[in-house]
Amino acid sequence: MEKNSIFSYTIEELQNILLENNFNKFSASQIFDWIYIKLETDFNNMTNLSKELRQFLTENFSINLLKDLVTEESKDGTIKILFMLDDKRTIETVLMPQKYGQSVCVTTQVGCRMACKFCASGLIKTERNLSTDEIVRQIFSMNVYLRKKYGDDLDNPRARVSHIVVMGIGEPFDNFQNVMNFIDIINCAKGFQIGARHITISTCGVVPKIREFADLKTQINLAISLHASNDEVRNQMMPINKAFPIAVLLEAVRYYISVTNRRVTFEYILIDNVNDKPEHANELARLIRGINGYVNLIPYNEVEENEYRKSTRVDEFFKILKKQGINAIVRKEFGSDIDAACGQLRAKREGVIKNEI
Ligand code: SAH
Repeated sequence: MEKNSIFSYTIEELQNILLENNFNKFSASQIFDWIYIKLETDFNNMTNLSKELRQFLTENFSINLLKDLVTEESKDGTIKILFMLDDKRTIETVLMPQKYGQSVCVTTQVGCRMACKFCASGLIKTERNLSTDEIVRQIFSMNVYLRKKYGDDLDNPRARVSHIVVMGIGEPFDNFQNVMNFIDIINCAKGFQIGARHITISTCGVVPKIREFADLKTQINLAISLHASNDEVRNQMMPINKAFPIAVLLEAVRYYISVTNRRVTFEYILIDNVNDKPEHANELARLIRGINGYVNLIPYNEVEENEYRKSTRVDEFFKILKKQGINAIVRKEFGSDIDAACGQLRAKREGVIKNEI
């Protein structure tokens, strides 16, 4: 029988497993420390655990890393790793070195069901949710990579992942429970210790899940892929808008803010002649005025397979928002030379991979 991955369990779940099997539940903290702080991948090396416990873990759980196929490093320091999952599907994870720390963009699904017209991820044919451990193992591997590069001094901020953006391939709120368990594990004080305020989840607007997420009352940042200032334009770009139009989405956003007291980010990719006209900027300002949030303007990354092109009006759009008193920033691009920039992830090497295996 296939063993379950140890990376699937929150500390609470691990404590329960230990209790059920007559071990001390406090050993869960020691196991977390070995795995997530020391990055140990052999239960037998966890020397402060009893021999019986090490044997129990070895017999019942796997502790395998994701297979990394290709690692690319961009001129600006961005690193992209192409991973192969156990069922041979491939995903990509990106690490962006920032002034404030090491930020990783994680993937939550193979492919995506949301079918936003401008996005390359929807072009991936196979679709499935990633399991919790497949998401956790992306961070684990990035930490292994960083430790090799910068040494294992735990006080060196370069040597470990400190920030997470859930903005890779997939819609995180379409894989809600696995993503929440992933966050529990990386946020755990005994684990990677990534603070809630250092984690951002981005959604295209799955309204019931925004509300459910609000009710969890975490300090995690929420980003909304708005991308349009009215339903007519948004309907053309994002099918989800037909199920949850802008007014319904913004109601859920207001609810999230009232429950959590957190500021939200509105992401807005600027696409030539689709959503980038001065009237759109003015309309956007009216739409979100009074909501505790700011706009993150994202230069569009062109995808060969569609008609959408980069806007030439980024500055103009930005200035109108500012003039209207709306907080806005233009997002800096990372890793565009290695296809790691926003919206470019799609594991498009499938052809190459077959030859490498
Ligand atoms: N499904 C989630 C998270 C993944 S996408 C969401 O929709 O928010 C992360 C961000 O990249 C989203 O804002 C998405 O709309 C944007 N994006 C997708 N394709 C892009 C492209 N070609 N250029 C720039 N941004 C893109």
